[in-house]
Amino acid sequence: MKRIYLDHAATTPVRAEAFEAMRPYFGENAYNPSSLHAEGRAARAALDDARDRVAVVLGCKAKELVFCASGTEANNLALFGIARGRRELGAHVVTSRIEHRAVLRATEALREEGFEITLLDVDSHGVVGAEAFAAALRDDTVLATIMYANNEIGTVQPVAQLAEIAHARGIPFAVDAVQVPGQLPLGVRALGVDALAISAHKFYGPKGVAVLYVREGTQIEPLVFGGGQEYGRRSGTENVAGIVGLAAALELAEAERHAFAQRVGALRDRLEAALLASVPGVVVNGRGVARLPNNLSVSFAGLEAEPLLIRLDLEGVAASAGSACAAGSLEPSHVVAALGLPEESRRGTVRFSLGRTTSAEEIDRVATLLPHIVAEQRRIPTVPV
Ligand code: PLP
Repeated sequence: MKRIYLDHAATTPVRAEAFEAMRPYFGENAYNPSSLHAEGRAARAALDDARDRVAVVLGCKAKELVFCASGTEANNLALFGIARGRRELGAHVVTSRIEHRAVLRATEALREEGFEITLLDVDSHGVVGAEAFAAALRDDTVLATIMYANNEIGTVQPVAQLAEIAHARGIPFAVDAVQVPGQLPLGVRALGVDALAISAHKFYGPKGVAVLYVREGTQIEPLVFGGGQEYGRRSGTENVAGIVGLAAALELAEAERHAFAQRVGALRDRLEAALLASVPGVVVNGRGVARLPNNLSVSFAGLEAEPLLIRLDLEGVAASAGSACAAGSLEPSHVVAALGLPEESRRGTVRFSLGRTTSAEEIDRVATLLPHIVAEQRRIPTVPV
């Protein structure tokens, strides 16, 4: 039987249009954009064109973009780059408890450098409160960073409002938007943010390429030194093929955004309604607040996520316990822990993330399967650890 992939928040396959756009830059056009010869100039033109197209989607200037190798790197560049760049003004950074590890671990490293970090709590839906955010800002705060949408539970943060609050205190505001392209608006001017990170493999582009928007005039120290590429903010020969693929995938994700949100959101709602109707003891995380249309995070009382996921896998369904990098550890995820769910539900949290090719038949199959699997798992006595 055909497998059902419901883990698009972990990664997505490269779409055909992006793959085709990239192809020449592995072969006949695989030159270095820094070379002066005609071949190099052609590679430079492709790079410039891709940068312009990404700038159109993000609503910014081309020179405000820094291409990097991953969403992790883009977030690290925003954090270390801006915080270190403003070190003489203070050493306090504000973020939330539910950030991706690409941000949380970076703030831990900043702490080692002498920065003080405030980790904001979220409410039971996974949303950062504007008042708590405002109260956390101090005269020595050099950066605030809050994710646009959470990768595990899909909740959307009021980033435009938070950016305004930060700016009223003269504090730059950075956003991890890695889960957002193709699902929510990305216009950086409307959001009013100073830095925003996205990563191509989350929107049907290739792995190993990402982009950080950095508002003109924002002081940012590089993490990587060398030949001075990316306006000196990220040295290293540019991944032309990857950047071209990112641009193609981003344009398409944006063009299809409304249709995607409608179609996939309806499928998500259908799965959610089916589970609520047929499975006792289930909590839908982030229900009732703005969520990514493709995300369904559910906690099953009295269950462990791992055996449930293994059973689903055996039935041909790929889902996840939370973020991919947290999987494999038996610790309940830091995001689920931050929601304050009762202990009996925490460990049984599963994320279904839908994608472009997800069909109603697939959703109905999962909706039919899950009540049986959950009932079966609940009959198995848990062994005390
Ligand atoms: N931030 C969020 C919200 C993510 O979901 C991810 C990927 O899982 C990242 C950052 C890291 O991106 P990448 O996998 O490109 O390093």
